[in-house]
Amino acid sequence: MKERTAVIDHTRQDPWEVALAQFNIAADKLHLDPNMREILSTCQRELSVHFPVRMGNGVVKVFNGYRVQHNVTRGPAKGGIRYHPDVVLNEIKALAMWMTWKCAVVNIPYGGAKGGVACDPKQLTPQQLETLTRRYTSEISIVIGPDRDIPAPDVNTNAQVMAWMMDTYSMHRGYSVPAVVTGKPLAIGGSEGRNEATARGAVYTIIEAAKHLGMDIEGARVVVQGFGNAGMFSAKLLAELGAIVVGVSDTGGGIFSEKGIDPAKVDAYKRETGSVSGFPGTERVTNRELLELPCDILVPAAIENQIDRDNAPRIKAKIVAEAANGPTSPDADRILFERGIFLIPDILCNAGGVTVSYFEWVQDLQNLFWREATINARLKEVMVRSFSDVLNISEKHKVDMRTAAYMLAVQRVADATMIRGIYP
Ligand code: GLU
Repeated sequence: MKERTAVIDHTRQDPWEVALAQFNIAADKLHLDPNMREILSTCQRELSVHFPVRMGNGVVKVFNGYRVQHNVTRGPAKGGIRYHPDVVLNEIKALAMWMTWKCAVVNIPYGGAKGGVACDPKQLTPQQLETLTRRYTSEISIVIGPDRDIPAPDVNTNAQVMAWMMDTYSMHRGYSVPAVVTGKPLAIGGSEGRNEATARGAVYTIIEAAKHLGMDIEGARVVVQGFGNAGMFSAKLLAELGAIVVGVSDTGGGIFSEKGIDPAKVDAYKRETGSVSGFPGTERVTNRELLELPCDILVPAAIENQIDRDNAPRIKAKIVAEAANGPTSPDADRILFERGIFLIPDILCNAGGVTVSYFEWVQDLQNLFWREATINARLKEVMVRSFSDVLNISEKHKVDMRTAAYMLAVQRVADATMIRGIYP
């Protein structure tokens, strides 16, 4: 049977509770003032929208959507839009909070936000997807804008969806506003390198982690969970560096080959058949089994709640690189840390996406566009510096990399809050 999502329900934790637990661990370490703790553990704005979409044949369906701004102290809110059947307010709140910390870890001048619509985009026609996107954009246009809150792609959304969002917002205004969203097509103010940016950023942090551990990327065995934007490009970029990709998966299941899999060929196969599952010369595995395959580098690049206290004791990788948001539970963090597995936390590992989004926004506002080599060099500089900042904190305070990343981020947001003061 086809798995509907990569999530196994019995392990599903409320992502908002996970986000709060992670925040509280760092807040304890920082001896954060109780008032500050209260402010930062709250989302500033939560917009829920319920809107009708004409599905064709006279049928109208009402969809639930959200846009949450967790914190805008360091700059305009920033974060992606997710289309997924499991989207609920608490998931979007967690993802918004994670964006606040992510932007702070890499020190780009944004607060955190996230949006989503509960829908199954695989069941929608292109026309339905466009209509849903335009109406959702219209509904959230009261809170977004190039100076206020800037959406981007996330799970099951892409450059085309961003183009529809940009166009809808611009139609309301009466003129083109490219900087209202990032991750747009190049033709309308998108940035070179944005498509691969999440994966490229993740790979820069993997290279740094490997250096730290004295491990070679060349010949390293890699497993990637999820074959969307982040997973597919991570697999390709790691293979280009000489790593051997032994397993990949998507919502249709996973594939494994001891000899290695060519991610470019799997990508072509998936475009044709809709899934990586059944790729010739590979064994089928479930998403759950995939995570426990013997490998050096495990890249969860799908969704939340994948590594928990049940499977953490059986993870065999030396490095876990979180290209996805929230794949590991706090219990699993503790287990992996005790087992000496080096985890690159999501708010650091996948920050390359929002970093190049920032570059795109800056280019749009200046109407001046950079070459891809410039983008990638600046991205590398941000990722390498941030990795080293987080590693230093982790060594100095003897904490795991997630707690270190949170300590850096929470302190930056707390400092900004202190210096601005509380209005009025
Ligand atoms: N959705 C991506 C993330 O979770 C990118 C967000 C953005 O570029 O604003 O980081």
